[in-house]
Order: sequence, then C-alpha cells, then structure tokens
Amino acid sequence: MAAIIDGKQISKDIKEELKKEVAELKAAGKNCALAVIQVGNDPASSVYVGNKKKACEYIGIESVAYELPEETTQEELLGIIDKLNNDPAIHGILCQLPLPKHINEDEVIQAISPKKDVDGFHPQNVGALVIGQQGFVSCTPAGIIQLLKRSNVEIAGKNCVVIGRSNIVGKPMSLLMLRENATVTICHSKTANLKEVCKQADILIVAIGKPQMIGADYVKEGAVVIDVGIHRDSENKLCGDVKYDEVFPIASAITPVPGGVGPMTIAMLMNNCVEAMKMYS
Ligand code: NAD
Repeated sequence: MAAIIDGKQISKDIKEELKKEVAELKAAGKNCALAVIQVGNDPASSVYVGNKKKACEYIGIESVAYELPEETTQEELLGIIDKLNNDPAIHGILCQLPLPKHINEDEVIQAISPKKDVDGFHPQNVGALVIGQQGFVSCTPAGIIQLLKRSNVEIAGKNCVVIGRSNIVGKPMSLLMLRENATVTICHSKTANLKEVCKQADILIVAIGKPQMIGADYVKEGAVVIDVGIHRDSENKLCGDVKYDEVFPIASAITPVPGGVGPMTIAMLMNNCVEAMKMYS
C-alpha cells in the first residue's frame, strides 16, 4: 500500500516559508512584484490567473494585473512586455497561455526578459537547464522535485521513466531528474513497448494528458508514481492519467488527483518570483 504524497500540505509549507521570507525582505525595504497578463477571457485561464493573484496576496507579493481584450494585437502585447521588462519595480512577468490565435506564443515567450521569466519558458532558461546553469525552471516539474525531496524519496541512481515530452512538463522534468542523478528514460506517443519500459521504473512520472491510462500493469511493485494529469471523469470528478485505485496497492508512494502535483505549480511560481527579486534587483 502506497504512502500518499500530500501536495496540498507540501505546497502550503512552501507558501508559508515564502510568506516569512517576503515579510523579511519587506522589512528590509524590498518589495516583490509580479505582472500577470491575460489576453481575452478564456474561463479556464481566468481561474488560473485568479488563483495566482490570490497566492501572491497570501504571500505578500504585489500582483499587477493586465486584463487585455481578445482583440489586442501582438504589437500592443509586445509593447506592454517591453515596458515591464524595463520597469525595475516588476520582478516577474507571467503571460497566461494559451494566447488568442492571432498572437504568436513563441515570439511572446521570447520577448519576456529571461531575468523576469518566472514561468521558465524562455529558450535561455530552458538552455540553462540543459547545460546545468542557473535559471528559472518550469513550475510543474520544479514542483515535482520538491514533492519527491520533501517526501524523502531518493532520486540519485534510481531508474526514472517520464511519460510525455512536452516543453512545459515532460522535457524539463526529464532534465531535472537527470540533474538529480537519476537514470532517465523519456517515453512518448511513439514509444514501443510502453508497459515494459514503465515496469522498469523506480520512479514513474506520468504526464500524458489521457485520463486514467496508466493501470497497475504499467507499474513495478514498490515504485513511486507521480501523476501530472488533470481531467474530469464521466461523473465530473477530477482524475489523473493514472488509475489511482489500481496503482495505490502496489506503489510505495503516489500523488493523488486532486491534491498531488496540482497545488505545487503555483507554489513554485511564487518561489520563482521571490528568486527573481533576490537575484536581479
Ligand atoms: P501535452 O499534450 O503537451 O503532452 C502529452 C505528452 O504525452 C506528449 O509528449 C505525447 O508524446 C505523450 N503521449 C500522448 N499519448 C501518449 C501515449 N498513448 N503513450 C505515451 N505517451 C503519450 O500535455 P502536457 O502539457 O505535458 O500535460 C500533460 C498532462 O498534465 C495534462 O493532463 C495536463 O492537463 C496536465 N498538467 C498538469 C499541470 C499541473 O499543474 N498539475 C501542469 C501542466 C499540465
């Protein structure tokens, strides 16, 4: 039977640590501010943006909101980003994705100063991760490293299988596990013998985006299983990429959905904002 890796509690611990640190920085006259840009009013994006603002408020980070209409042009958006890049009172810039179709996301990501890229999406920060230099790391994979470390899961020397190779989750996750000295295998939609490969994993990280695809037949007895997926099942209940009830009895530790990986993403975003302020202001 698995230990449950409690992302809700771990994210709470991180937020408390940050709150204390931000208060100390404030007492020393240093204010931390995050610019949050949303273009259009996609309902899911509005929920994410709202949660990020709430977390800022709780920790004591100032959030400066830019709620731009759907028809905002790319030039207008790039103009705002340029202004924020040059504003010393702003430490982090977050542009909520997805952007409307007429805006090129890659160009927007590249326009954000790497020193204020608290999402860790800028090619310079991705490159820094690849060659082991300091930089901002994508928040969800960075959160998973915290989940593992704070749950005392040993990573060095372990076989880690990551399913998924997206730029936001799978690829940075694999690089972070490599940095922690795991032996890493990356699986994707074209991987042959997925089950056999997954069965080799001491740590199995699942970021496929397919509801409850991974059952007990993919998991080695005693493996640690991290489920990144978030979906609604036929009864409208949240579920992950893993069949939790099937895998729970054979894993040594597992993240639930909800309450596992999900809460860590915002906690790490807040952490990146505080780091940006400490490093570059
Ligand atoms: P994505 O769709 O960009 O990538 C999915 C990856 O899974 C791809 O690389 C693909 O090759 C691989 N894949 C697809 N079908 C496969 C199959 N049958 N066998 C093996 N590999 C397969 O998704 P993403 O952005 O990486 O997100 C993955 C999941 O994590 C989604 O459910 C998403 O909602 C969730 N997510 C959660 C958080 C969080 O904060 N908890 C953050 C980001 C993403």
